Amino acid sequence: MSKDLDLQAQSNELSELRRELEEANDTLNAIRTGMVDAFVVHGEEGHQLYTLKSTDHTFRILVEKMQEGAITLNKDGLILYCNPCFADLTKVSIDKIIGKPFDYFIKGYTQDRLASMTINGKLNDYKMEDILLALDGTQIPVLLSFTNLDLEDGTALSIICTDLTTQKAAQQKEADINAQKRVIKQKDEFMSIASHELKTPLTSLKAYLQLMSRDNNYDLPLTFKNFMGKAELALNRLHTLVDDLLDASKIQAGKLNFHRTIVDINKLIENCTENASHIFQNYEIGCSYTNNLQVLGNLERLEQVVMNLINNAVKYSPVNKKISVSAKSEGKFIRISVLDHGIGMNEDQQEKIFDRFYRVNNNNHTVGGLGMGLYISKEIVKEHNGIIQVQSNLNQGSTFHIILPAVNTTADELL
Ligand code: ADP
Repeated sequence: MSKDLDLQAQSNELSELRRELEEANDTLNAIRTGMVDAFVVHGEEGHQLYTLKSTDHTFRILVEKMQEGAITLNKDGLILYCNPCFADLTKVSIDKIIGKPFDYFIKGYTQDRLASMTINGKLNDYKMEDILLALDGTQIPVLLSFTNLDLEDGTALSIICTDLTTQKAAQQKEADINAQKRVIKQKDEFMSIASHELKTPLTSLKAYLQLMSRDNNYDLPLTFKNFMGKAELALNRLHTLVDDLLDASKIQAGKLNFHRTIVDINKLIENCTENASHIFQNYEIGCSYTNNLQVLGNLERLEQVVMNLINNAVKYSPVNKKISVSAKSEGKFIRISVLDHGIGMNEDQQEKIFDRFYRVNNNNHTVGGLGMGLYISKEIVKEHNGIIQVQSNLNQGSTFHIILPAVNTTADELL
């Protein structure tokens, strides 16, 4: 009897377990087929079931905290839901947004248009840029990402609204910079063509003037000869300006190439001083140096730099007319200095004078120039692996220094 009872109990227990297993299978099937909003996660602690309540809550927090505006619309285009970010963008409180037509914030999304967009689920993850109108009249560029929901409760569309203000500003900035670069390039090209075109007639003009003034076969009146001298001076000045323009455009195009030989710096500064003393006869231009100063470089270009510094020293020293040019050795380097006692510069001006086209705005002392001499000098010195510097005090004078590697300086020892 007791044996029969035991068998009966075991059979009951088996049926109960079968029923529970069937139930579990049904639940799993329902989840798998999407009939129930839940999902199973296989974790370390076995299988865990997440129900609609927990997932919904997570998604809701996600949408509420999102850095993008999120709204849902019904079929008539009325806003059913909006997250705080959308309210921030529009500067309207959430309770005032709910129930408003979408067209109120983004023009053109009339009921008809929205209806035509959603017909037959035609709209699938559609994106477009548009302008969002905030309450204070601000127009915010946005990216709208539409998703067709078509839910039973009447919700038709969800829209994610991304603020593109920063992106657009960056794009605009980039476009402005590119436009500026194009203008600068055009200007550089113009400068290059213009200076080339000017140079040829100028050279012939200069040659003819020189021939005329040297020809003693004609008995020209003195005033005539004076005029020719003046014309020659003006032409020389024009020639220098055109050469500067040409050099500046070569530098811009990265074509300031020159061949190098051993240059004797003592001879170079002696020549420049002599030349300058001849041109600027009412200035006292001294020259001093120590022995054996040689660099590997281009004689004409280095002369151009030193002459430019002497020229400036003259131009910007209207009262004290003493100028000193010197050169000395400093270990592996050679320092050439041009000192004047002229108008000088403040620190702010000293920082900018080597920039292209920079000229100090000095109302008390106006002299002609294009603001290119020091820029060209800096580039030439740079090509020689050297540096150019200025020390100056306002109303007391300036000293320009060129520091160049001596001829035997190795690549490792360069500035
Ligand atoms: P430019 O002399 O044609 O204006 P530079 O490039 O040679 O062009 O010089 C740039 C500016 O630096 C000058 O306009 C001037 O204001 C300043 N400057 C250059 N040399 C001196 C100097 N020796 N004393 C004072 N100011 C100077």
